[in-house]
Amino acid sequence: VEARKPVPRQNLRVPGPTPVPPEVLEAQAAPMINHRGPEFSAIMKRVTPRLQYFFQTASPVLTYPAAGTGGQECAVVNVFSPGDHVVSIIIGNFGKRLAQIAEAYGLNVSRIEFPWGEAADPAIIETRLKELAPYKGVLITHNETSTGITNDVQALAALVRRLSPDALVVVDAVSSLSSVPLEMDPWDLDVVFTGSQKGWMIPPGIMMIAASERAWQAHKNAKLPRFYWDWTSTRKHLETSWQHPTTPPVSLFYALDVALEMMLAEGREAIFARHVKAGDYVRGRVQAMGLKLLATDLRYASNTVTAIQAPEGIETKALLKKLHDEDQIVLADGQDHMKGKMFRIGHLGYFTEADLQQALDAVERHLKELGYQA
Ligand code: PLP
Repeated sequence: VEARKPVPRQNLRVPGPTPVPPEVLEAQAAPMINHRGPEFSAIMKRVTPRLQYFFQTASPVLTYPAAGTGGQECAVVNVFSPGDHVVSIIIGNFGKRLAQIAEAYGLNVSRIEFPWGEAADPAIIETRLKELAPYKGVLITHNETSTGITNDVQALAALVRRLSPDALVVVDAVSSLSSVPLEMDPWDLDVVFTGSQKGWMIPPGIMMIAASERAWQAHKNAKLPRFYWDWTSTRKHLETSWQHPTTPPVSLFYALDVALEMMLAEGREAIFARHVKAGDYVRGRVQAMGLKLLATDLRYASNTVTAIQAPEGIETKALLKKLHDEDQIVLADGQDHMKGKMFRIGHLGYFTEADLQQALDAVERHLKELGYQA
């Protein structure tokens, strides 16, 4: 086997995993503790209300050792029954995945799809929802990481509530929550989940999910098979002992504890403002280079990830390789049918404007070397 080498220091600008601050990395090196002991419970007791603060909900925020996809599956299995009709609003790859999961579990899924680069248009959604009624739930991606588009979840949720007051609004907030505004209770969202590797400044591995009272009621009667993801069991352990039904990723909770302290010190609104500034900066630089954003309407361009179309005649792969090999800058390729045709720059969680500037300066330089003329 190849000899083990130190992990390189990179300017990691993919939209997750995201860089982790030194204080958080250090926290993870602490010794292991008993996940059934008082020290671990103390961490959960601190972390849980802070998660509720960022979710903007009075409901308990449950945590699972899982990827974001686990959040999608956890949402589906806890509130629906076989054959339930749900509407899936799809603006890219992750919306598609949520629909696929719902289908895999035997739900009857109606898809409302928009071309990559567009947000879900509330007027089209209204017409389609009226045609598709009745339905038990509507699945929405808040920030579509594959296209760099943020849906207006507040407007879409209000629309669903007006047309079908009992339908559950399920929101994938994996690459948005904590970085851009999302107000679970004020917007009357029913299920919201996110992943630790995005805006939370810690490594991948913790999925966080919360449910409204309406969703908890639906959960009681929901018949899809569930065991690992069962909210009742997870909530019971949290509420009786500040613990989990299974073994949690203890070191990641050390990390989350410190990261949440840092996030509170920065301030929720200040974090949002930093992401707005980052989005503006990246889009401004990209446009100044004469490049085209994937976003067709800048009002919906994401403040956590920017998707850029590859210029005519230039393969994304060559650009990403030069950035990686020559500058230790790591950007993301397009996904699915857009692989090689676009690239994405992540600007969420722990970053400075200097990190973004370095990445964009290098993109500009390498594109010229590859023959790009604005
Ligand atoms: N949903 C969204 C919006 C995402 O951005 C991602 C990952 O990038 C996922 C779901 C899936 O998360 P994971 O790759 O951790 O399973």
